[in-house]
Amino acid sequence: MKKRVFSGARCTGRQHIGNYLGAIQNYVNLQDKYDCIYCAVDIHALTSLEDTSTLQETIHEMILDWLAAGLDPQKSILFAQSRVPEVMELHTLLSMVTPLSWLLRVPTYKEKVKLQPENVNYGLVGYPVLMTADIVLYKAEVVPVGEDQLPHLELAREIARRFNNRFGHTFPEPQAKLTDFPLILGLDGKEKMSKQIDNDIEMALSDEETEERVMTAVTDPARRYRTDSGHPEICNVYSLHGYFSPSHVDDIATQCRSAKIGCVDCKKLLAEHINSDLRPFRERRAQLAAKPQYITDVLADGAQRAQVIAAETIREVKQNMRLI
Ligand code: SF4
Repeated sequence: MKKRVFSGARCTGRQHIGNYLGAIQNYVNLQDKYDCIYCAVDIHALTSLEDTSTLQETIHEMILDWLAAGLDPQKSILFAQSRVPEVMELHTLLSMVTPLSWLLRVPTYKEKVKLQPENVNYGLVGYPVLMTADIVLYKAEVVPVGEDQLPHLELAREIARRFNNRFGHTFPEPQAKLTDFPLILGLDGKEKMSKQIDNDIEMALSDEETEERVMTAVTDPARRYRTDSGHPEICNVYSLHGYFSPSHVDDIATQCRSAKIGCVDCKKLLAEHINSDLRPFRERRAQLAAKPQYITDVLADGAQRAQVIAAETIREVKQNMRLI
């Protein structure tokens, strides 16, 4: 029996290279070793999304990118969170064993309160409970995460443990599987790459658009003139070369330090390598985009398969809680 992996990603539409390096490549690699369930978390998105007019489109675009990057619906279950409503039922039941104090101390809750003070909704507080429901509904034993998500997973483990202690062993405590590329910084070189703060490079851009985006990247501020020597270790363009141009990084570092390469040429080289790495993905994406019904079918089939597992867990949960 393969162990089961679960991962949910917020519906953000077209994926960027931070998603690709930090999550999607890992999702693809895990498919052969584990029984994988990957979910576009649309209910979570509602905690900050007030206008849902493009929600279906963002789910579609995201799944399209996942498939083009190599996720195989024959191997993995791919679906949208809300299509399996049992998750909302489990969220309510788990909320009864989760102390409010645990939720109010979660750093991301505090950050969200600062980010959207005019929309501090109940869903924001319960976010980790819904995330726990996502994982334990499918009895996942392994959750691929970046280092920044470890506290969330620890909370999910605590909630599962508390439920098990009170109602008898029901859920495995999910274990973290750290990704190889935990934190990808964006074009500003400061924050995690994110569409929300416009510091991202979408995977599906054309070659020209990719180069345009890369050209906006912040580099070492010490290189004000072409003849100034640089410090590659503090430059995010250099970090990205590490992922897309691994055999060139030593050369680039030497040339940057001795001012033999300028930032414009260094960025052009990075864009070239990103484009060549993503070329097969972009070709597959174009083929899949021509078959929109295929994406709809993948999501419907995934939801159906996920629901079979979910219904069995809910029955067991209710039985253990003496609700039935
Ligand atoms: S040459 Fe490259 S590594 Fe050096 S500062 Fe410029 S962009 Fe960064």
